[in-house]
Amino acid sequence: MVTIALSKGRIYEETKPLLEAAGIVPAEDPEVSRKLIIPTGHPGVRVIIVRASDVPTYVQYGAADLGVAGRDLLVEHGGRGLYQPLDLGIARCRMMVAVPEDFDYPAAVRKGARLRVATKYIQTAREHFAAKGVHVDLIKLYGSMELAPLVGLADAIVDLVDTGSTLRANRLKAVEEILAVSSRLIVNPASLKVKRAEVLPIIEAFERACRG
Ligand code: AMP
Repeated sequence: MVTIALSKGRIYEETKPLLEAAGIVPAEDPEVSRKLIIPTGHPGVRVIIVRASDVPTYVQYGAADLGVAGRDLLVEHGGRGLYQPLDLGIARCRMMVAVPEDFDYPAAVRKGARLRVATKYIQTAREHFAAKGVHVDLIKLYGSMELAPLVGLADAIVDLVDTGSTLRANRLKAVEEILAVSSRLIVNPASLKVKRAEVLPIIEAFERACRG
């Protein structure tokens, strides 16, 4: 049995056509079903539904053989124990530093100000600001990062930006790009060895579907 870890929402929706190209049709829609293990029309393949940030962990420990995870989460996770054979080019966005519209970020950086930065990407943000020589106190949040500067919790945030409308709606502006993000197929290295005959055709079908 091959297990594929996916998260609900955009990643699931954009991965579904790739699964179908590999002959894998989930028996239920995870957006509707409460089941966390979903069989598929392919007798040797099942899908598990986990939180997006947990996908790399399930694949790293071999609880799933394959998964689809955003580059933001893979960089934050560190990528230990994972093959990343394929950039699927889906769920594209950018990881950005954002500040209130009236905040002069370049001046604050020039002056060597110590900035409070709220984010769920603590490791990635730490490395980014350290490489720039900017002093930061990082505050871990789990969601709604855009709120933090509005209520005085932070001077800046590190978050994903797609259209920019969430930033605009909250009078924030993006000032620096940290990463270009898209989702990748990830594979457990032991699965690729032990279940090669089942896993490799799935990787190849995803690859063909992406090229197409
Ligand atoms: P937008 O308003 O289109 O710039 O989208 C920004 C909001 O959507 C932020 O709250 C982001 O965390 C979230 N977001 C945007 N793109 C993605 C993505 N590819 N994966 C997960 N969250 C995203």
